[in-house]
Amino acid sequence: MTQPALDLVIAALERIREKNDRAPRASRTALARLQTASPVAPLLAAPEPREDGPEACTSPTQRRQQAPIKADLLAAVRERVRACTKCEHLACSRTQTVFGVGNPNADLMFIGEAPGADEDQQGEPFVGRAGQLLTRILKAMNFAREDVYIANILKCRPDMPAGGFGNRPPTPKEMQTCRPYLVEQIDIIQPNVLVALGAVAVEGLLGTRAAMRELRGRWHTYNSIPLMITYHPAYLLRNQAPSEKRKVWEDMLQVLERLDQPITERQRSYFL
Ligand code: SF4
Repeated sequence: MTQPALDLVIAALERIREKNDRAPRASRTALARLQTASPVAPLLAAPEPREDGPEACTSPTQRRQQAPIKADLLAAVRERVRACTKCEHLACSRTQTVFGVGNPNADLMFIGEAPGADEDQQGEPFVGRAGQLLTRILKAMNFAREDVYIANILKCRPDMPAGGFGNRPPTPKEMQTCRPYLVEQIDIIQPNVLVALGAVAVEGLLGTRAAMRELRGRWHTYNSIPLMITYHPAYLLRNQAPSEKRKVWEDMLQVLERLDQPITERQRSYFL
């Protein structure tokens, strides 16, 4: 397929997915053919495996074999993000795009809102103070950053007025513009559990606006994937009350249970 034809197919698939909030479906044969044409395949979902068929379970060996394929697919999306100028103002102000980091074959994926100043400088999500707290939370869960995948709704740092201090949240329009890249990341990684960090991430992912006290602590779904909503680590840095930290930890205990990870007594009584 020629590049102009591919671009047309990609644009059409992105429009379908944005309207339906689901990846368009394609047969495995069609997917296999399109995978040789690279950027189109991640936009398509494979048919659901039959419960009783040989594809009902994926063996550890199969999952390891998928990892390089997923890494290649993610690399192709990363290249498109790197060159993206859909939000002209952000493309002008960013130091670099911040795509995502971690294991392409992760069972657990965290979603934040947007890069801050530290992330913009280093090109990696969650590396500032809030990121260091997220790393500590992961460690308490017995995970390293390399075990999970971490990405944001927005891949560019929201610009600040000249002389402005700190970070600003992304606008709904910015999130809507960038969201298709995150959708592609999730479609490629296919995690068993998603965690959305904070109300802005929830709005970007689900289009839902609600108070965090109503959203957190219970299971939601995104595209059939279990989704836990919890406070953003930056919130815990602003609000050091043990009760708030405990809420986040209880949400993470639910995540561990959902992932069938063993939980020790020490972890159960742990406070962040
Ligand atoms: S925020 Fe996303 S859509 Fe906007 S320019 Fe950056 S990468 Fe492109």
